[in-house]
Amino acid sequence: MAERETLEVDVLIVGGGPSGLAAAYHLRSLNPDASIAVLEKGKEIGAHIISGAVMDPRGINELMPDWKEKGAPVERPVREDHVTYLTSNRKFDLPIIPPPLKNHGNYIISLNKFIRWFGEQVEKNGVDIFAGFSGADLLIEDGAVAGVRTGDKGIDKHGNKKGNYEPGIDIRAKITILAEGSRGSLTKQLVQKFKLDAGRNPQVYTVGVKEIWDVPSQKGVDGRVIHTMGWPLTTEEFGGGFIYNMADGRVSIGLVVGLDYLDPRLDPHKRFQEFKTHPYIRTILEGGTLYSYGAKTIPEGGYWAQPQYYFNGGMIIGDSGGFLNAMRLKGIHLSFKTGMLAAQAASEALAADDFSEARLKRFHDLVESSWVKEELWRVRNFHQAFEHGFLSGMIHTSLQMATGGRGLRNRYTNHPGHARMRKVLEYYNGAVPAPVEAAFDRKLTFDKLTDVYNSGTDHDEDQPCHLVVLEPDICTNRCTKEFGNPCQHFCPAAVYEWTDANRLQINASNCVHCKTCDIMDPYQIINWVTPEGGGGPGYEML
Ligand code: SF4
Repeated sequence: MAERETLEVDVLIVGGGPSGLAAAYHLRSLNPDASIAVLEKGKEIGAHIISGAVMDPRGINELMPDWKEKGAPVERPVREDHVTYLTSNRKFDLPIIPPPLKNHGNYIISLNKFIRWFGEQVEKNGVDIFAGFSGADLLIEDGAVAGVRTGDKGIDKHGNKKGNYEPGIDIRAKITILAEGSRGSLTKQLVQKFKLDAGRNPQVYTVGVKEIWDVPSQKGVDGRVIHTMGWPLTTEEFGGGFIYNMADGRVSIGLVVGLDYLDPRLDPHKRFQEFKTHPYIRTILEGGTLYSYGAKTIPEGGYWAQPQYYFNGGMIIGDSGGFLNAMRLKGIHLSFKTGMLAAQAASEALAADDFSEARLKRFHDLVESSWVKEELWRVRNFHQAFEHGFLSGMIHTSLQMATGGRGLRNRYTNHPGHARMRKVLEYYNGAVPAPVEAAFDRKLTFDKLTDVYNSGTDHDEDQPCHLVVLEPDICTNRCTKEFGNPCQHFCPAAVYEWTDANRLQINASNCVHCKTCDIMDPYQIINWVTPEGGGGPGYEML
């Protein structure tokens, strides 16, 4: 029988996105002798990376001042900013761009392409990157994280070992840095176990659903950034659209929807398809073709919703630690910077041979005295202000901007997003309309399966389901009646299908790893765990 291997390193970083790679790169320059390993669940670096994206270069400038000379792939510097309010058939441009949405000096990038390039730089610097390995479990000893066990490979869907069975590896580390992105599965385990969210606001999320288009008529449009408010979202919903002109006529288009909506039938993917049918948006995409698709959640709770991001044996950085400025719709620069600050704290802890929580609190102190704190503090109450709808949110936001982020009080609280969802009868006042089948023309609008095909998603079908429904009886006995099984609506990849036999069918191989189900299920009984390493999306240009 195959033996479980053990690997010992000084620092293990879980996640090869901007924050994890920044931590690896910076730590290598601070401490050339440290052994550093990066675990990445995608089949290669960048495969699971997706963002809008307009990058504020502040983080990468500090991390690698000559990033442009080194050939970092940038689509276009931002040249034009537009903010527009949509009704179902008209648009109203804001005469003045609100300061948080001004993008002069920023760059339109494909984060996925950028991170592929950055991963190469990190490897050239002598860091070991293990792509295709998922972190399945934390190794916890004496109240401290001592590393991570990677997922077993070669287990069939019934839990039996196949001919190619390989047990996961125990990667033991003095310091484990969690950089798993939004709603990381190890981070979730750790926060619950060590109660790292005690006294904090509940984290709230949005989901961004996006496509990349090839549009010949957009080839001459250089560096244009459009943000939209309003339709197809209603005033009780949080979110908005974006359209960014990339190089060579490529257009990045998406809709971000708050995962704290009330309507149990809301379908973010469907709303995004509707968004493209607006006369204004339709004109932009005219004559173009779909290139790729993806979806991800975004942690939007801000400063008050961040967990304690240091603990015995490690730290939490980037999206996993809630480092995101929701008002500016930006987190990449904060990911780079928090990766750097965690690397500094790790380097000092290695020198002192002390990996305790008290020592690693240094990371918190570094964050608090950096521009990360300054930036997050100014927007600390942003998302919470929208709990009572768009109009009230805009009024509070103006007030917060005038008072350095305070608004009416220092700390606004909020409810977890899933707890805000209304039961079907309650939401529709007892008169539930019959479901309307959406019509997709497959030219401008696409069904979920076609979009999933364009995400390059691939999982070995013969493996245990990575979407673990903890109490399946609730789905049939309560959820159908109470919420109408919202998983079939909120999943942007048609993973959850409700069959005629009143049975939930989980098409796990479609999963694009967005984590919406883990966040938005009203009973919190869907647990997203890592599938076999290497499975998942194969994102291109996203
Ligand atoms: Fe996202 Fe969950 Fe659907 Fe996977 S199953 S695509 S994580 S909502």
